[in-house]
Amino acid sequence: MTGGLVVVGASLAGLRAVEGARRAGFDGPITLIGAEPHLPYDRPPLSKAFLDASREAPFYRTEETLRQELRTRLLLGEPATALDCRRRVVSVGDREIPYGGLVIATGATARRLPGTGHLAGVHTLRTLDDAIAVREALDDGARTVVIGAGFIGSEVASAARKRGLPVTIVEALPTPLVRAIGTAMGEACSALHLANGTDLRCGVAVRAIEGDGRVERVRLADGTVLDADLVVVGVGAAPATDWLHGSGLTLDNGIVCDAHLATGVPGVYAAGDIARWFNPLFGRHMRLEHWNSAAEQGGAAGAAAALPGSAKPYETVPYFWSDWYDARIQFAGIPDADEVKVVAGDTEAGAFVALYRTGDRLTGALALNKPREIMKYRGQIGRRGSWADALDFAATRR
Ligand code: FAD
Repeated sequence: MTGGLVVVGASLAGLRAVEGARRAGFDGPITLIGAEPHLPYDRPPLSKAFLDASREAPFYRTEETLRQELRTRLLLGEPATALDCRRRVVSVGDREIPYGGLVIATGATARRLPGTGHLAGVHTLRTLDDAIAVREALDDGARTVVIGAGFIGSEVASAARKRGLPVTIVEALPTPLVRAIGTAMGEACSALHLANGTDLRCGVAVRAIEGDGRVERVRLADGTVLDADLVVVGVGAAPATDWLHGSGLTLDNGIVCDAHLATGVPGVYAAGDIARWFNPLFGRHMRLEHWNSAAEQGGAAGAAAALPGSAKPYETVPYFWSDWYDARIQFAGIPDADEVKVVAGDTEAGAFVALYRTGDRLTGALALNKPREIMKYRGQIGRRGSWADALDFAATRR
């Protein structure tokens, strides 16, 4: 293959692409291009343990391993700026990097609130540098306001409460997490905030974030004013596709791919948070922002791009976890369902399993503080198990 394998995006999916290509026996040159100056690192700890104490940055591999064992040329600290599929080159500023096979793993970028960029103390939490800034503010005892009661915002609130700091979460929707786990379970999980002393305000919008150079207060649409030294904006992420406009790839809430993670342009695959691929298990396109699928897709796309003809369909039951206070939330499957039923424990007690039914199939499962249960139901969802069988199984687990 002339031009070797080029991987754009040096994070989880990008690293796994490199490893996947080598594991599959690819012996040619590999170049890994990353916008951040850092070696690939693990993001989930950034909103969890990394905020608690002075933990080391969670790098996956040393530079030596990447360069010598994985024989990878690293181009870090500068983003890829364009892709020319016809000439098979990726541009990084003025430089052109030719490829034989290409994996695009540029992930997602945190959404910001317009008009707040000029204020110190207002952060998103997507990168290691973001996490260092948030941790420093917590070290200084910041009064914290989190905007958005999603998973990352909720984890930041947990970290602040663990230090005994005052935290308010402001959520525009009446119930948090509706899109991720549905209304009833969104309510059940957000009860953890109340139980842990976080002031959760739902159904109210932010009108302004104010301060003189540095954030001082957040003004809400209902007239409330919240004093703040730290504001963390957790309002979701958007796929990092800006650099691909005009490339000829199909962009629609991510890079649209088939079941093989192939983009339809010869030699070009996508993986991780940026990929909206056809998941054969559910018969639909999906774009996930989950650690497990990013890792698995990276491995599959790396092998497929490096060794033409070796691509296999990738299917999965979506899975993610989140840690709030001392609780672990896990979800498998898809959340839009005809019925959600608690089958073990109870929502008041802070430990339960809820199952999600679509038609006569089990299509989702949520566990709060029941870490050993979720994978059993994930397996059933993957086998297209029936609702009746899932309930019978649940009865044996009580
Ligand atoms: P990313 O990790 O987003 O990496 C993309 C990389 O590409 C970045 O380094 C970016 O700088 C780089 N890049 C972007 N544009 C360019 C360009 N033009 N040129 C070169 N490089 C570029 N998932 C869970 O399942 N459970 C969790 O508990 C959990 N916690 C999380 C906590 C945080 C704080 C965050 C941010 C995410 C969390 N996730 C969690 C999600 C999980 O980390 C992501 O799904 C995963 O990181 C996706 O990997 P990726 O490689 O596809 O993309």
